[in-house]
Amino acid sequence: MEQNKTKFVIPLPPTGSTLNCKGWHQEAALRCLLNNLHPEVAEDRDNLIVYGGKGKAARDLKSLEILISTLKRLGNEETLLVQSGKPVAVFPSQKTSPRVLIANSNLVGNWSNWDHFHELEKKGLMMYGQMTAGSWIYIGTQGIIQGTYETFMSAAKIHFNSTLKGRIVLSAGLGGMGGAQPLSVKIAEGVFVGCDVDEERIKKRLKSKYLDHLASSFEEAWSMALKFKEDKVATSVGVVGNAADFFEYVLKQKVLPDLVTDQTSAHDPLDGYVPKNLSLAAAKEMRSQDPKKYMELAYQTMGDHVQSMLEFQKRGCFVFDYGNNLRAGAMKAGVEKAFAFPGFVPAYIRPLFCEGSGPFRWVALSGDPKDIEVSENALCELFPENKKLKTWIAAAKKHIQFQGLPSRICWLNYFERAAAGELFNRLVREKKISAPMVIGRDHLDCGSVASPYRETESMLDGSDAVADWPLLNAMINVAGGASWISLHNGGGVGIGYSQHSGMVILCDGSLEMDQRLALVLNSDSGMGIVRHADAGYDLAAQSLSRTKNFSMPCMPKEN
Ligand code: NAD
Repeated sequence: MEQNKTKFVIPLPPTGSTLNCKGWHQEAALRCLLNNLHPEVAEDRDNLIVYGGKGKAARDLKSLEILISTLKRLGNEETLLVQSGKPVAVFPSQKTSPRVLIANSNLVGNWSNWDHFHELEKKGLMMYGQMTAGSWIYIGTQGIIQGTYETFMSAAKIHFNSTLKGRIVLSAGLGGMGGAQPLSVKIAEGVFVGCDVDEERIKKRLKSKYLDHLASSFEEAWSMALKFKEDKVATSVGVVGNAADFFEYVLKQKVLPDLVTDQTSAHDPLDGYVPKNLSLAAAKEMRSQDPKKYMELAYQTMGDHVQSMLEFQKRGCFVFDYGNNLRAGAMKAGVEKAFAFPGFVPAYIRPLFCEGSGPFRWVALSGDPKDIEVSENALCELFPENKKLKTWIAAAKKHIQFQGLPSRICWLNYFERAAAGELFNRLVREKKISAPMVIGRDHLDCGSVASPYRETESMLDGSDAVADWPLLNAMINVAGGASWISLHNGGGVGIGYSQHSGMVILCDGSLEMDQRLALVLNSDSGMGIVRHADAGYDLAAQSLSRTKNFSMPCMPKEN
């Protein structure tokens, strides 16, 4: 007879300064894995879904249970290998080697598509790792908020005199990442108005104060937005509805929005994007009963959605794709001009990438918010000339509630990241911070991703689809001794459309970590300069000429 087994319950991440593992690198991986699944952090904890459609932290409950026990017994000269969310091996390695190496959702080119992925997923052989979900360094919606703020501010600088004051930004999708849009627009002084098909998602953003108002109809949402625009009030309005319907409604109005974008989970036509004229319950049923039909309807709705965006553009609004592969979905529905509006990277972010700039995040493993306060104050003191950083940190302190383990994010460039790492490690060593911290980043970074419809769209030399770069990025981070490193396929834009890598490194106060932090943070962000200098960007060549730590054999430094 079968034994009565107690059901495994997902634990909360441990906090404090006591180890549950044999070293802090393993402990950090354990805490960050469980932080990804923290009830305040994960979008659907019971199904191990962290964010971004079905971006997961572990393949299934059994794998999670074994991941936890393996991390707890993992030695300081061992490395755990994780294949699409399942722990598959522990090998002897060296003390300075990464403790965990992760590969998620990678498929051989010819098979790298959702259909094949779904077949494997059904057989329990694969998991979708998105970006920071499967690489255990998601920090809740805050993780994307500064990047979103950077994007909107860059748009404001280019189009509207450096502020969104009195401007309306129309968008859709208020999920894990998209939920950062309302607050980012508000911090940039503008008015956000956007819809989501799922009222629960909107309520979650209201609760965390990422969104200010919930309108009861399209009419109410739009009239509120117009009034706020007129009064130059910085705020945000959400409304329940399908993006294709809401955008069509707004198109019929006399006054149009200033900026238009979208962050529905269009990268995933089956488990992410919801077709119009379907309730959430009906969508759920059709997904399992008739996935082919579901995807057909999803693509059709993406087509309508993009048609409206093209019309907004025609009528003078600034329109951009926000990294969810919506345009490619619309192409499948026959919208030939879908790519007539640009992606956000070529439109607004690439100059930052040329300086090795990107999303630098850190997590207080202690669980104590004071550790973040001490570190962010010290960071502002370290870079007194960086006004954008100061403004951001002040806004983040005011507006952002921590989710799970306290953490912070800010965009730092190549010339700043290693110095920040050294600072944080010193703060731990001097016990100004109560336990070790980790530094990580999104895979959406300057030198860690190949994604022709997003980060590497319209590269100067046409090298958009060259995926060697993220592989080199991961390998140099292994060589430098990051704590855990991951290589993924399909994040952001869906299976087959991107290749990218992540890294996380510990600050435990030791002198050994001083050295490893310098190696990793220099080479990780240096890859952004290399990638863009190699592609012919003058700005990256200028950055290269200012670097001291590396060279490019085919490219003499400019004087
Ligand atoms: P998510 O799955 O957590 O949220 C997506 C939201 O879209 C959900 O709330 C869902 O209800 C809503 N939605 C789906 N179809 C809709 C429709 N037709 N109309 C209105 N709402 C709809 O995903 P997320 O983490 O918020 O990411 C959103 C998208 O942005 C993904 O495609 C992701 O890959 C991409 N992304 C972009 C960036 C970036 O920096 N630009 C970063 C990460 C992710």
